[in-house]
Amino acid sequence: MSLVRFPESVVSCRNLVGGEWLSPTEAQSQDVRSPYTGAIIGQVPLTTASGVAQAVEAARIAAHDWGLTPLRERTQCLQAFRGLLERHLERLAHLAASESGKTVAEGRAGLLKGLEVCDFALSLQQMDSGAHLEVSRGVTCEYRREPLGVVAGITPFNFPAMVPLWLFPIAVTLGNAFILKPSEKVPLTACALGELMVAAGYPPGVFSIVHGAKATVDALVEHPDVKALAFVGSTPVARRLYVEGSRHGKRVLALGGAKNHLIVVPDADPDLTPQAVVDSFTGCAGQRCMAASVMLAVGNVQPLVEDIVKRAARLEPGPGMGALIDRGAVDRLETAIAKAKADGALLLLDGRGRRPSGELYANGHWLGPTVLDGVRPDMEAARLELFGPVLSIVRVTTLSAALAVENASPYGNAASIFTTNGAVAQTVVEGAKAGMVGVNVGVPVPREPFSFGGTGESKFGHGDITGPSSLDFWSHRKKVTRKWSARTDGSWMS
Ligand code: NAD
Repeated sequence: MSLVRFPESVVSCRNLVGGEWLSPTEAQSQDVRSPYTGAIIGQVPLTTASGVAQAVEAARIAAHDWGLTPLRERTQCLQAFRGLLERHLERLAHLAASESGKTVAEGRAGLLKGLEVCDFALSLQQMDSGAHLEVSRGVTCEYRREPLGVVAGITPFNFPAMVPLWLFPIAVTLGNAFILKPSEKVPLTACALGELMVAAGYPPGVFSIVHGAKATVDALVEHPDVKALAFVGSTPVARRLYVEGSRHGKRVLALGGAKNHLIVVPDADPDLTPQAVVDSFTGCAGQRCMAASVMLAVGNVQPLVEDIVKRAARLEPGPGMGALIDRGAVDRLETAIAKAKADGALLLLDGRGRRPSGELYANGHWLGPTVLDGVRPDMEAARLELFGPVLSIVRVTTLSAALAVENASPYGNAASIFTTNGAVAQTVVEGAKAGMVGVNVGVPVPREPFSFGGTGESKFGHGDITGPSSLDFWSHRKKVTRKWSARTDGSWMS
């Protein structure tokens, strides 16, 4: 386990506008605190509409030439960025951990996923060379991909590097000028990514950063020159941005929250299953949109439940498990646990009040692994996204009852089945509502190019945020039909 390295001094985050690092005028700023220590590690400006307009104008100017730059040249910049990302991976993993509360190992994993998305975008030249067909004698059809112009991405706190990296490598390689609005809780990693984009040689304005919160987002949503918005965050905000962005004539893909189900049946592998369940609900202190939240225990799986509780009890809150983002998250989760108990759930493991030893972590935000048993599907603990290391066990007697609970959730990010029986696995693969399904995998994040995206209230809009359908999100397909007559009017033809 790596201990998190914190920034040596307080980082003053600035906006990246037209290739320059600027402190926006009129903007107030707020502190960025490390979830591990509660200490101030940065300051972030809250950009107003005029600061957003300045960034959009610089991006609009840059988008013109960048859109006309051949794909091969655009790809060379991404190749340079990818090399820098790999070289700075360790530093960025620590930075992401220090501001988001995730472990350094999870920080690294997010960056490796980012490299995977870069590889996907780098393969565009080979993969997406277009189609050209003679549709009738002398008539051909083809399509060419054209960029949209200025596009923006609004990202959450829990993946300071990975979620931005889902977006901008693909968007800029397709010829757009991209504006990132990172979470105001984790702006430091975004600035470090911006420094690498500048060092990679992208022309000024092709990649911009505007810091801020709701007012900054609203300014991006309302700006007529922003043609597409990708959002990743909680469901209420995702829903609102999808509606508002569409109302302002933009293309919007908005990924929301989740309530993920792990279905465990009596023939589940006893060696693999308990640790996979524990890793899924405790990893990143449960602050993953793919984290297990509900375990649907089918029939008699009591030995597995006991093993899960034993393994979870051994985990210590601290740098090996990760911290909750802020005090508000700790309060919200402690209240949810108390409510579940009052609703009749059995508290098999109580993580409240558990914290790492040592002065350094005294003001951090902690909750130990918590397991609730006997949770009914109608209880809040079974329905609401809690976003912490809390597992709600719902007991059911049949596989179809388990699927009925999963299907009834308004969310639809992830579901997994733990079984040694192929037919059982297939029933869940076919019957689950979730957009990403795992078989004996606790966190079923697809590898590229298999795309990332859920269903229901976990995603508003069409297509996925990565993979092949993201190409259509970040570009137009222009269709060209050509007809040439065989007429000759000169002897030079023959
Ligand atoms: P959040 O919705 O609070 O914030 C996300 C972004 O939206 C931030 O940049 C924030 O500044 C901005 N924002 C916040 N409130 C806003 C408002 N009222 N109007 C406009 N913009 C606003 O989410 P979070 O707490 O940063 O992240 C955790 C949430 O994100 C969880 O619900 C998690 O499940 C979800 N998430 C989903 C995915 C996915 O792929 N589906 C991935 C990661 C996180």
